[in-house]
Amino acid sequence: MKLFNEDFIRKDSKRMIKFANPVENHIDVKITYACNYKCEYCYQVDDDGHRFKGVFEEKNINNLINFMKKTKLKYIVSLVGGEPFMYPRLNEFAQKLIKNGHRPNIITNFSAPFEKIEEFINIVKNNLFNFGISIHISQINSTEAFLLKLGKLMELKGIWPVWITCVITEENFDKAIEIGEEIKKTYGITVYFQRVYYREIYNIYSERIENYFKTHNIDVPKEKTGNINFFGNYCWCGIKSYYIDHNGDVHRCYTPQACKNNGILGNLSKYRKIKIFKKPYPCLSSDNGNCICFKHFIDEKYVTNYICTNAELKNIPSQILPSAKQKLIEKKNKYKMEIENKC
Ligand code: SF4
Ligand code: SF4
Repeated sequence: MKLFNEDFIRKDSKRMIKFANPVENHIDVKITYACNYKCEYCYQVDDDGHRFKGVFEEKNINNLINFMKKTKLKYIVSLVGGEPFMYPRLNEFAQKLIKNGHRPNIITNFSAPFEKIEEFINIVKNNLFNFGISIHISQINSTEAFLLKLGKLMELKGIWPVWITCVITEENFDKAIEIGEEIKKTYGITVYFQRVYYREIYNIYSERIENYFKTHNIDVPKEKTGNINFFGNYCWCGIKSYYIDHNGDVHRCYTPQACKNNGILGNLSKYRKIKIFKKPYPCLSSDNGNCICFKHFIDEKYVTNYICTNAELKNIPSQILPSAKQKLIEKKNKYKMEIENKC
């Protein structure tokens, strides 16, 4: 399966992670905030620790299909939560996507009864893009039961990959290594370590853990990119990629944008009116200028995002000029001040 165009590989990370332009188009849909876990580091909660609420409405499944038709593109559609297997219309949604030529992608905490997972797999078959599992150690009652379930999944596995991550804390680190090694030994799958993300910053750990990350290179690649500022660069988000919230709001990308409505292009309830950029548009990330929207990554070498390559920039009539960039920065600073004044 070709995930990106190798001709476009870029090496502009300070840490020399290779960036590639994805061939695929991508939409993330927040289908539910509901989750049966209570992870200590969950960031889908408000300042008082209450979980965000909301479910993707049934009518918006068809509205989304219609919106995708309007864009004339085929997408990988990530069905994300909360816990996606708690979304009552998961199978129906996946079926409709496939019927219309799109490919579902799932990221789960893997706690659903296996029969439910099996039912989903029988529906998506080899149209599934990827089966993503996020291990949350404090919430797993039995490692043995987890591994047995993983074994059952591997028996059903189609041509799609199983991608496993584990969120690391100082407390669970040793256990995470143990589980990771067991999974590697039994199923040949590398478990990637995910940093806790809190208030726009990826956590930095004690020396012992940081050294382990460095020597084993199993840090989730996108999280090695925390220092990269994409603000002002042209990005394909809003053309080839979108993020859709549970209420149907269509965002340009995950990272709030320092522009009107935080980069919301419209709502699925009025899908005909959703703004689609006609050409790549500068990144206006208000999130410290960082991009947390990397879409895919393949082993530890490649990260893909939607920033334009130099080759593509040549074909964009109005490239961003230093003076224009300066204006964008001023706009961003003004926006940040406005937000701070409101808080
Ligand atoms: S599984 Fe994910 S959504 Fe659920 S509590 Fe844990 S971090 Fe939050
Ligand atoms: S935050 Fe990332 S995905 Fe969003 S516009 Fe900027 S570079 Fe593109």
